[in-house]
Amino acid sequence: MAFEGLSERLQKAFSGLRRKGKVSEDDVRTAMREIRLALLEADVNFGVVKDFIKTVREQALGAEVLDSLTPAQQIIKIVNDELTKTMGEAAVPLNKSPHIPTIIMMVGLQGAGKTTTVGKLSNYLKENEKARPLLIAADIYRPAAVDQLKTIGEQLSVPVFDMGVDTDPVEIVRQGLAQAALQHNDYVIIDTAGRLQIDEKLMTELANIKELAHPDEILLVVDSMTGQAATEVAQGFNDRLDITGVVLTKLDGDTRGGAALSIRQVTGKPIKFIGQGEKMDALDVFYPDRMANRILGMGDMLTLIDKAQKNYDQKQAAEVAEKMRTNTFDFNDFLDQMDQVAGMGNFEDIIKMIPGMANNPALKNFQMNPKDIDHMKAIVYSMTAKEREDPDLLNPSRRRRIAAGSGRPIVEVNRMIKQFNQSKKMMTQMYKGNFSGMEGMMGN
Ligand code: GDP
Repeated sequence: MAFEGLSERLQKAFSGLRRKGKVSEDDVRTAMREIRLALLEADVNFGVVKDFIKTVREQALGAEVLDSLTPAQQIIKIVNDELTKTMGEAAVPLNKSPHIPTIIMMVGLQGAGKTTTVGKLSNYLKENEKARPLLIAADIYRPAAVDQLKTIGEQLSVPVFDMGVDTDPVEIVRQGLAQAALQHNDYVIIDTAGRLQIDEKLMTELANIKELAHPDEILLVVDSMTGQAATEVAQGFNDRLDITGVVLTKLDGDTRGGAALSIRQVTGKPIKFIGQGEKMDALDVFYPDRMANRILGMGDMLTLIDKAQKNYDQKQAAEVAEKMRTNTFDFNDFLDQMDQVAGMGNFEDIIKMIPGMANNPALKNFQMNPKDIDHMKAIVYSMTAKEREDPDLLNPSRRRRIAAGSGRPIVEVNRMIKQFNQSKKMMTQMYKGNFSGMEGMMGN
């Protein structure tokens, strides 16, 4: 899985912080050292790591963070925000020409996934914009590149312009553009030659194509599995061709993450798309914030933390946290929490922000009936004050009495107590920074 090592190491650095109620400057320094090593090991560019750590450290050592009630969470949020910034903040759309066709030139080293990405991009434009692209086969050097593009075109019902492998690529592009003008294609995507390494002959050819075609977009396709090398390649192409964007391929593999985190900073050019598989529909718009969440292995936990911070009474949150830590969370707290969660919005939307929950098939048709919450409350109200404080007292005869008192069936009472005990266990583990217990509860 992509980013696995990096995610694990970052989680480890955070769990060191989470275990502590209060976080000291030394704790922050230790965590920063771990994060620095994690990034370097993931093959992130050295300069990028240096700037990243400097910014995060400065913010994390601020008094508002260390003196807050939730320093660990705040530091996680700082790291997340900084990861997002490093990758470019917001998604950057494709450049468009004011008149048709918009011309996209694809460049990259051999094997990066250029020809495949030309097909994926035409498919993306067809699906999302009902576009009518024309593909130009101008890679005459790689054996079978022209045939590969023709096969992809047939598969997607997208026309491909080719002149075999004996005509000069610049001439192929000239004639391909003339054909697009005749056929009123709204996009032209040019597949160019790659080499195993950047060389002068290749760069001259690409520069000549650029001069002729005046592309609106020059997308560099890079293989994310090549890590640091991908960043160097990007720099080389950018210096010579002034690229407009990057497509990062093979993010479905076990890439360490270096390329995703370095390219934007080193070249100043945005990653626009990511390839996540060999199939023609495996191309996605690149969202830096979602990628940061993915690297942190957090689902949309950060939106959840944001919501919680807005809606939660901070003092009460600290009391609850203390109760979770000391495993003294009881049914009175349970009632309070239910009211607080109800104030955060739609329960189904909230639960899906928890990592592992969003795509959990068990939740596909999940609906929480507001009546269920009333029933749970009725059950808690039928407990004596002692029972609420000490759920271990709830033996079978007490449970029968509660069932009769609340007017709910005994199975429902049993189920609720069981769920309470499970959540309590989960919360205690979460608080200790042990997410494995939580994942278990979510059927992962
Ligand atoms: P080119 O030489 O740059 O034109 O590279 P190709 O388009 O021929 O791709 C090289 C190999 O990478 C092929 O086997 C592709 O199927 C594969 N490939 C391309 N993009 C992806 C991707 O996003 N994920 C995976 N797993 N494989 C990819």
